[in-house]
Amino acid sequence: MNISEISKKRHDGAFSTTAPSTRAIHAGQEPDPITGAVVTPIYMTSTFKQDGVGGLRNGYDYSRSANPTRTSFDTQLAAVEGARHAASFSSGLAAIDALLRATLRPSGRILLGNDVYGGTYRLLSKIFVPWGVGLDVVDTTDTAAVSAALSNRHYDYLWVETPSNPLLAVTDIAATAAVAHAHGTRVVVDNTFASPVLQHPLKDGADVVVYSTTKYIGGHSDVVGGAVLLDDDDTYSRVAFVQNAAGAVPSPFDSWLDIRGLKTLPVRMRVHSANAMAIAHWLEGREGVDRVWYPGLESHPGHDIAARQMHGGFGGMISVQLTGGMKAAKRFAGATEIFTLAESLGGVESLIEHPAAMTHASVSGTTLEVPGNLVRLSVGIEDADDLIADLDQAFAGLGD
Ligand SMILES: *Cc1c(COP(=O)(O)O)cnc(C)c1O
Repeated sequence: MNISEISKKRHDGAFSTTAPSTRAIHAGQEPDPITGAVVTPIYMTSTFKQDGVGGLRNGYDYSRSANPTRTSFDTQLAAVEGARHAASFSSGLAAIDALLRATLRPSGRILLGNDVYGGTYRLLSKIFVPWGVGLDVVDTTDTAAVSAALSNRHYDYLWVETPSNPLLAVTDIAATAAVAHAHGTRVVVDNTFASPVLQHPLKDGADVVVYSTTKYIGGHSDVVGGAVLLDDDDTYSRVAFVQNAAGAVPSPFDSWLDIRGLKTLPVRMRVHSANAMAIAHWLEGREGVDRVWYPGLESHPGHDIAARQMHGGFGGMISVQLTGGMKAAKRFAGATEIFTLAESLGGVESLIEHPAAMTHASVSGTTLEVPGNLVRLSVGIEDADDLIADLDQAFAGLGD
């Protein structure tokens, strides 16, 4: 079987009728044909023996172009997403960069959500804009505003992050995609926060899904990676061409860590979501708390859309604004004991951070600036009562 046949098998294969949790464990994970090894080996090789010149075994010749551990992960991820194609990269931003370089030219234009990951904004504004790509920002939760912007001029892409980072704003993917498609604009959804378990943007009408697999998919804070998922064969060939031509590929070991993480994603997302819901309820109305942002709370402006669009939970991310302002937020973020003060998210361990000074420092002074009194929690899969007790002691420390 060559690589394009493997790619086809991903879509039409034996697992197409099974549930995502079954696919997460079996798709792309056929036991090794030589040894029967149940777990996909880490094919730590840069090159592959040819049986006579051009006689490639299963299409493999050099590991930048393709590596069996990477093929295994791409197959598994595409199956869990229900996408025809997946291409994985050495980071989420490398995935985004490859997608845009593969499909945009100078004079192209992107309409970007106003609450996206700071690094995405930095990549677009500092690298793609000087390269000649136009960039405008819109509140994607406001479908009328999106429609007005798209009527005003042509955009190649509408870039949506939902729930967004850090304010957990919820965009209606189906409604927004319908508006965008009416204007000939393609829709990308950065699905990193929801993961392929909780939200299915391609089924809702998006054209492309991107991930930082560093977060929930890897799930153990031990690997940096990214992926582009889509159904369109032509766009996939372009992305795969840039992946090979520019070379931002994950190592076989990175791919193996992503495979292992993805197998337990459905189970982990259930616990992340249940813990976060318990904590969000506990935070809401508490003294010292100005506002809790969690799509699972009825007080969240996007709750009804999230309840329709997300399946089986609202994820593990919570943002909370404190009445004590920036000073209290920084102090609180440094006062927890189980929640570790660190950037990133989506791992089994709970993390806490101050976005204005940490993850979102690069958007300070721009339209994407985040409030100074905001603290972001990545709720892990520890015991919920232990996590609540930890937050409680951190609040107690703010009093003096
Ligand atoms: C982390 C993140 C990215 C960037 O991914 P890296 O793996 O850090 O390059 C993109 N989008 C979102 C929503 C993220 O959280």
